Amino acid sequence: MRIDLHSHTNCSDGTDTPTELFRRAARLGLDVLALTDHDTAVGWAEAAAAADEVGVEFVPGIEISTSHRGRSVHLLAYGVDPEHPELAAMLHGIRGGRAGRLAAMLAKLADLGVPVTEEQVRRMQGDAPSLGRPHVADALVEAGYVADRKEAFDRYLSDTGPAYVKRWAPGVAAAIAAVRAAGGLPVIAHPWGRGSREVLDADTLRGFVAAGLAGWEVDHNDHDPAQRAHLRELAAEAGVLTTGSSDYHGIGKYEHELGCNLTDPDVWEEIRHRIG
Ligand code: AMP
Ligand code: ZN
Ligand code: FE
Ligand code: FE
Repeated sequence: MRIDLHSHTNCSDGTDTPTELFRRAARLGLDVLALTDHDTAVGWAEAAAAADEVGVEFVPGIEISTSHRGRSVHLLAYGVDPEHPELAAMLHGIRGGRAGRLAAMLAKLADLGVPVTEEQVRRMQGDAPSLGRPHVADALVEAGYVADRKEAFDRYLSDTGPAYVKRWAPGVAAAIAAVRAAGGLPVIAHPWGRGSREVLDADTLRGFVAAGLAGWEVDHNDHDPAQRAHLRELAAEAGVLTTGSSDYHGIGKYEHELGCNLTDPDVWEEIRHRIG
């Protein structure tokens, strides 16, 4: 069984449509794939239909933008009801924060000598309800300032980059509560990716478990072998689940091909049982 529990489409900042995503999953021999776009469930219906067609099991998910001590933390929510009022309001607020910071980022980019317009960025966003820095990156690529998204992040848009602007996000515990209220299973994505290890130390993770967290991603390309071993150990101590996933974004992110990391079939059975 090949199970991948984290992927993106052009409903947020990936580049495949939900149909293309599931066709690719079938070609690559996946049995189970979760679609977890940032802060939206809008791709689920198309994904479910495509999954049916190609014989891959579709898992409904959302990767929710949260924050802890001023740092960004991504919370995967499996099997949630996206219409649940508390969760729907939270997602609406997060998407508003995403759009609300665009003008400030564009002003910084203009000051840095690489001006792009809101119209250009919106064109990159297309119909995606979640506007993200990758769309700004795509506009910088189109304007010829950088070669690809990676260079745009490295030079301008990363969390420590000169064009970065913070946006509103709920706290992790509040998001865990909203996901539980909406009948979903909350799992922290790449907890120690991109320098997040200081904010999500062992005590903090244990605290989130007490607040209802069901587990965390271990096998993710942002984690090296030592981090994976340590995160697995912490999960075993806390009695929570560990997952593995690609975090596939289409051509938007290198070295994250579908199925490059997988979730253990026993863990998947447990997740399916709990969200069933
Ligand atoms: P945002 O959601 O607007 O805060 O943008 C963060 C998103 O940008 C992440 O979820 C990734 O998909 C993407 N991202 C972050 N860093 C990089 C990078 N160095 N290269 C490409 N994509 C990145
Ligand atoms: Zn993303
Ligand atoms: Fe993420
Ligand atoms: Fe992701």
